This record gives sequence, C-alpha cells and structure tokens, in this order.
Amino acid sequence: KNVLVIGGGGREHAIVWKFSKSLKVNKVYVSPGSHAIQQVPKVENIELDVKQFKDIVTICKDKQISLVAVGPEDPLANGIADALLAEGIRVFGPQKNAARIESDKDWSKAFMDRHGIPTAKWKSFIDAQEAKKFINSASFNALVVKASGLAAGKGVVVAKDKQEACRAVDEILGDKKFGGAGETIVIEELLSGEEVSVLAFADGNTIKPMLPAQDHKRIFDNDQGPNTGGMGAYCPCPLLTSEHLDYVKKNVLERAIQGFKKDNLKFVGVLYAGLMLTSNGPKVLEFNCRFGDPETEVILPLLDSDLYDIMNSCCDGTLDKQEIKWKGGVSAVGVVLASRGYPETSSKGQVITGIDTVSLKQDHIVFHCGSALKDGHLVTNGGRVLISVALAPQLHIAAAKATKACEIIKFDGKQYRKDIGHKGIARAIL
Ligand code: ATP
Repeated sequence: KNVLVIGGGGREHAIVWKFSKSLKVNKVYVSPGSHAIQQVPKVENIELDVKQFKDIVTICKDKQISLVAVGPEDPLANGIADALLAEGIRVFGPQKNAARIESDKDWSKAFMDRHGIPTAKWKSFIDAQEAKKFINSASFNALVVKASGLAAGKGVVVAKDKQEACRAVDEILGDKKFGGAGETIVIEELLSGEEVSVLAFADGNTIKPMLPAQDHKRIFDNDQGPNTGGMGAYCPCPLLTSEHLDYVKKNVLERAIQGFKKDNLKFVGVLYAGLMLTSNGPKVLEFNCRFGDPETEVILPLLDSDLYDIMNSCCDGTLDKQEIKWKGGVSAVGVVLASRGYPETSSKGQVITGIDTVSLKQDHIVFHCGSALKDGHLVTNGGRVLISVALAPQLHIAAAKATKACEIIKFDGKQYRKDIGHKGIARAIL
C-alpha cells in the first residue's frame, strides 16, 4: 500500500520511519518532507501546497494513496480531512468540526464541561474590561490567560499575579497580539502539579491509549527560561501511575470519544490529552487533535505493532479488534538539539556533523526536526534541529545515552538540555 504523510518535522520523521518498517507499506510519500526524511527507505518527498486540498486529492489519486496521515494541527483545523473524505480518500486525522477540540479553546472547554471531563475552572471573554473585572473578582485563582485560537503554543500566559493577567488580556484582546486567534480569550484557574501527555488512537467509537510521555517545554535545565515547542521527552512516564491511567482512560478519553458522538461528531486520529496531575487527580490542560512533538519521537520507537495496521483500523472503525503491542521493559528518551537563539530566533545554515556516528550505535535514532542539505552539507534549518533518541531497559540509562549523543553531534550554536527525564528518574529511584 502507498501512504502519504503531511508534514516535515521530527514528528513526521518518526511516523515515516515507523511506516517504512511495515511489510504492508510499499511506498511512503511525504509532503513537504525533508532531505533527512527522504533518506528513510521507501520514502519520497512531494512538493505540495498543503492549503491546496484539490492538489492533494489529485496526488492521492495519481499515486494510489490508501491512507493519508496528517502530522500538524493547522491542516486539520482548516478541513483537510473533510476535503479528502469527500473524495473517498481515507485519512487519519479528524474533520474540521472535531479538530475544534484543539483549534478553539473556548469550544474545547465547553465540550469538557458538557461531557464531565475534569479540567480547570474557566470563563471566556471577548471584552477586555469584563475580562479584567472577572480576574479581579473571581472566586478561584484566575491567572491563566489563553488566546482561544491556534497560536503555535505561544498564546498562553501563566501570570504570577492579577496585574500580569490583566496585561495579558490587554495584549491579546486589545493589541490583537495573536490576530484572529485572540478574538476570544479563555481565563482559567491556575493548576499546579506535574504535566504528562497521554495520547490515544481513536476510531470514532473506541479509544486506545499509547504509553504516557512527558515533554520538557522550557529551554533551560530545571525548567528555567522561556517556553519552547519542546526540548525533549521520555516514555513511558512513571509519574502517571496505573490508577491515574485507568482514571484518565475512563474519565477523560472515553468521555471525550463518547462526547463527540453525543455532539454528532466523529473523532478519528490521535486524541492527545495534556494533563496536570493535581492533588485532586489528573485534570486536562488541553486537548490536541494529532500526534505531539516531541512525544511522538519517543512513543513510536516503543510501539511493537504495525502503525499502518493501527491507522487503518482507526479509519475503518475497527480499532476495538486491533491489538496494540508495546515493547515491555524499555524506556525511550529524546533530547532536542536546538539552534542558537532558539526560542526567540533561530540560526540557519550551520554545518552539522556526528550524526552518522550516533546513528550507527545500537538503540540510537536521530530524527530531524529542522535540517537541510546545502552545498552537499547537512545544515541547521530551524529552531529545533534534531532529536537524539535512545532506548534502554532503564530510564536513567536511556537518558544518559541520548544526552551523551548530543555531545557527539556538533554544530555551531547548539543548545540542548542535560536533564531530560530527570523527574521520571527521580520517581523511579525514590
Ligand atoms: P501547546 O500546544 O504548546 O501545548 P497551547 O498553546 O495549546 O500549548 P496549553 O497547552 O493550553 O496551550 O498551555 C500551554 C502550557 O501552559 C501548558 O503546557 C502548561 O504548562 C501551562 N498551562 C496551561 N493551562 C494551565 C493551567 N490552568 N494551570 C497551570 N498551567 C497551565
């Protein structure tokens, strides 16, 4: 079978890498892909404008694509799944109306309340004066201010006091810092605890969780400095106990999938629950409607089953009959190598060396988030450049291996965290 993957970062590299291992997959087309992704066996990059759904449909027909897997959220929010399904093309990823769970936080919070899914208390506003009045008089600690629309992870302000929260309101609603994505804001109760991600496969009726993972959003060690797209992740995350996982499955994932049905919507694809483990149990911080990045790069290497079979069963509505096997007793740790200036800016064109040395080692994989080929050299081409993933029976060994590999890989301005997995390691030891 031929498949098409939409996207070209580390997440898509991991999806393509896993597809290429499937005996059922003949060819993996990827758009836009990247030089590094094209090196994976069976893979071919295709240049497409992802906004031109008609062109994607034409390619799917030409290349006899049996399944399209969509990596990023934007095309899903813009209705790529609707356009493909209308032409009879099978797609792993939700239609526009169900993708609102990620693309419209106001809708998403109302969805959670409607279906009894535990989440922070909240209220939404379009008027700055009313929003500020609410912050100053709310019965809960109303300190998290969010642009309701998609803002590439930058539309959230966790304020230290009411003044800062009010400033965020002015910036988003008044100064239109995020344009249309900030026409509505959501103000939330501040939650505290550990953050964990539980991703699940969904076919519209059935939901099957993947192994839990933890991302590291801040740029510097010990969770210091500004937020990023994610500086590393590990899987499975022992901070989520099996009781937690049962709770999340029943009260978050299953309620969500049933909730979609009650709302006459169908969710097919990956439902990602970003959770805060509070003293009152897990609560949902956000839902995403696709694979997380960098979580995917540590989750998929632990998947024993065929990814094509699983996605196929999601498209067919037969996920309940699909067995999903994970490598037992193995941990995966991924450390992101970012370029100089990230996350504020990024530096492009720096020559990268050492990847071959790392890739030849057993249980090491290097996925490319933002690299390119220039004048015959592999160079940096974005904020997050690579992710060094290592597998080992114990989490601390996997972390040490993945981090050590970042020393071997070299480019000017390289930045990476040396403490990825530290919270899980502490939990495993103590
Ligand atoms: P991303 O897609 O990058 O995860 P996002 O823009 O969709 O981000 P959220 O996930 O809702 O936004 O929030 C981003 C981060 O802000 C969370 O990972 C968490 O660290 C923090 N955060 C969000 N909501 C709360 C809350 N209610 N209490 C405490 N922290 C929060």
